[in-house]
Amino acid sequence: MTDKRVAIVTGGARGIGAAVAKRLAEQGRDVAVVDLDEAATAETVEAVRAAGGRAIGVGADVSRTEAVEAAVGRIADELGAPTILVNNAGILRDNLLFKMTDDDWDQVVAVHLRGAFLMSRAVQRHQVEAGWGRVVSLSSTSALGNRGQANYAAVKAGLQGFTKTLAIELGRYGVTANAIAPGFIATDMLRQTAERMRITYEDFLAGAAKEIPVARVGQPEDVAEAAAFFTSDAASFVSGQVLYVAGGPKA
Ligand code: NAP
Repeated sequence: MTDKRVAIVTGGARGIGAAVAKRLAEQGRDVAVVDLDEAATAETVEAVRAAGGRAIGVGADVSRTEAVEAAVGRIADELGAPTILVNNAGILRDNLLFKMTDDDWDQVVAVHLRGAFLMSRAVQRHQVEAGWGRVVSLSSTSALGNRGQANYAAVKAGLQGFTKTLAIELGRYGVTANAIAPGFIATDMLRQTAERMRITYEDFLAGAAKEIPVARVGQPEDVAEAAAFFTSDAASFVSGQVLYVAGGPKA
């Protein structure tokens, strides 16, 4: 497929977002790589270009309305109307409930939920006008509940409800919305978790692999493949779904 549609991947500087940006470029998309620090997007932008796509890096905090509006406006001006959105930006502020601070809660809600809301609202204008669109939001197996992640579990479950609602509201405009719920994917995000648990990252990965039916941890590319499917032209009858990419059953 060589459709020159414009995709936005938030949190695309590294980890899952970087792999998704590259995979979408291989699928023929142009990609705007949005992350907190524009300079940090350089490597992903280069990877998209190497895969044959046009790309720009855009610095924006997805939890801030003005920043989101400015970013989406700039992307429309420089690359063309964005009709594919991957809500991937995320942070962890893990703690057991009794130790979780107001800031731990608010920051996680702001980036994951408010961020996905603001980005989706800004992009849907372009999607509705085009009569075509794809929204993919990163949920998590933590949506099913996970010790130390009351904030994160709540937002990842929230994104599933958000996704189903977008699917219902936007379907008539040719827009689908789906969620990917990854299990254990080897990225910097989980380095933080290993540090918090006071074990080495390598031991953390090895321990996790033992619990996963396919006997390995996931890689960002495993998630990117699911994003490529959901954002493809061919997936137009698949909407409001949550796909667990976790190496075995979760839900
Ligand atoms: P990561 O390596 O930590 O990358 C996340 C990216 O998001 C970083 O580049 C980060 O920028 C950026 N970001 C954070 N806050 C932002 C904001 N307010 N505005 C714009 N960008 C922001 O994480 P990952 O492991 O690739 O995870 C990507 C997504 O998948 C997240 O939504 C995560 O919750 C979800 N997920 C991950 C796993 C896993 O096992 N890794 C499992 C399930 C779900 P900075 O570097 O500047 O902070």
